[in-house]
Amino acid sequence: MREMSAMHGFAASMAPVLFKAACPDCRSRFELSASSLRLAIGASRRTTFYSFTCPECGSSVRKPAGERIVELLTGGGVRTLRLHTTV
Ligand SMILES: [Zn+2]
Repeated sequence: MREMSAMHGFAASMAPVLFKAACPDCRSRFELSASSLRLAIGASRRTTFYSFTCPECGSSVRKPAGERIVELLTGGGVRTLRLHTTV
């Protein structure tokens, strides 16, 4: 069932990026794909955060995202929501 094998080199560069995350509620650790994460960029650092739903307990987790995390997430293809347009 590995249809991707038809496109070797291409598939390698398109490998899904996994982000390590932990849930503050149930304390489980897991890896999330880019599609499970959401990034919200606000006007200030305090309103910039990423969120995801814990696959273990189902609670929605929201964590502040620093510049590095923002770069990492956007580079990994995480959906980004801009709360304030400051251009
Ligand atoms: Zn949890």
